[in-house]
Amino acid sequence: MSNPVEPRAGEPCADESPADASPDAVSRRSMLKAGALAAATFAGAQAPAQGQAQSDAPAARTGSVAGMPFRAFVRYGTEGSVLDLRLRDIKPTQVLVRTRGSCGCYTVTSSVLGDFPQSTASIPNHSGMGVVEAVGAQVRRVRVGDRVLVSGTPWCGQCHQCLSGTPEWCNYLAPGGVPNDPIAEMADGTGVIEDAVIGGLSEIIVAYEEYCVPIFSDLPDEQIAMLGDTGAVGVAATSVYDPVQIGQNVVIFGAGPIGLAAVQGARAQAAGQIIVVEPARYRRELASSFGATTVLDPNDDTDTLVERIREMCAPRTDRLDAGGQVGGGGFISMRGADLVVEASGFDRYPPAVETGPDPTGLLALRQAWEVTAPGGSLVTLAVQRGDIAFPGSAFCLSGKRIFGGQMAGMNVMRDTTRFITAMENGDVDIGALVTATPPLEEIRAGFQGVADRTELGVVITFPS
Ligand SMILES: [Zn+2]
Ligand SMILES: [Zn+2]
Repeated sequence: MSNPVEPRAGEPCADESPADASPDAVSRRSMLKAGALAAATFAGAQAPAQGQAQSDAPAARTGSVAGMPFRAFVRYGTEGSVLDLRLRDIKPTQVLVRTRGSCGCYTVTSSVLGDFPQSTASIPNHSGMGVVEAVGAQVRRVRVGDRVLVSGTPWCGQCHQCLSGTPEWCNYLAPGGVPNDPIAEMADGTGVIEDAVIGGLSEIIVAYEEYCVPIFSDLPDEQIAMLGDTGAVGVAATSVYDPVQIGQNVVIFGAGPIGLAAVQGARAQAAGQIIVVEPARYRRELASSFGATTVLDPNDDTDTLVERIREMCAPRTDRLDAGGQVGGGGFISMRGADLVVEASGFDRYPPAVETGPDPTGLLALRQAWEVTAPGGSLVTLAVQRGDIAFPGSAFCLSGKRIFGGQMAGMNVMRDTTRFITAMENGDVDIGALVTATPPLEEIRAGFQGVADRTELGVVITFPS
């Protein structure tokens, strides 16, 4: 792991080269030396400033937080419940956050509602927001008193993935990136970890610095909480990997909180058509209200769904010398959407609203790929159940770009601020996706609404 001071520390080495003996070299040495001194001064000026910044931070209580009582939803054995815990010391690279909100993710429903056995006591979920209450001695990105998003995905800026243009797979991403040690203990001393080194369903989040995004905005807590997971993912799907261009055709499978945020993102970027495929009537109606130009029920004429969408995306003419298209034949259709977002998921629990023709979600994934035009982009976001088969030749040759969309490709330090600006300007309305804000004591009811799909964005909230 490189130290950012190293390049500066290396500069004086040029001045020590024995080969530099000519007057010119002396002159150059002088210049280098001057530069080195300037760099040293700069570094020296920076170090106290950073140290000052940390010492200015009120009540930075590194090492003194052990024993702090708090409550959290803990899953252990075959059940989960809200327990009184005692905090352990945080590490020098960790941040102690007093939670204000945590966005309930559909993937977490079984951790809250299920009865499967779990041998390690753990706080479920993988995002949250709140106020920094203490920082480890090495933390620089956030300060005590900061409002902060603990994002579902970290950004360190220096690992191989961050440097290679795939920050959504920053190597600090658990598991394996950073140790997931117990952050607290139960009354009997049993250690409690956080799922994905974040947790969230807790009055306290202990997060590694790389997961923390300082928030400089007055947007309400529940809207910021949505940026740790579903709300941000939907907007990112239309604006990170292959941003929508004005007038392009966008198809979105699934109008849950992710899909509806994607609708808003597509509309904000002036997409031409926004075609939404969603089985639940109330979600189709919401999609229309957020800017979908066409909403389709995947249960209606399921076998012709792909062809109908392709025809909707056909150019205005079939005259090839006038920008037209004949649609192709054979094993690859030329017609389809410029950007397809697959956010349909699968039915972990039977929905209490209308469901699609395939509870595994694999049919929707296959259809999403089929309606992607050659040269178009498919962003896959949902967690599916099972394997999928594609026709080999078409898969290999069709020129479709597939983005496996962990966090929809977000660089959370860069993109969160962009999304906040769009929210403040009214271009996207993530607040409209928050349909329930239950307190920790009502967490089961909140997650039942997520499992039933009768709710959209459910943010577990904590009194300030
Ligand atoms: Zn999630
Ligand atoms: Zn990284």
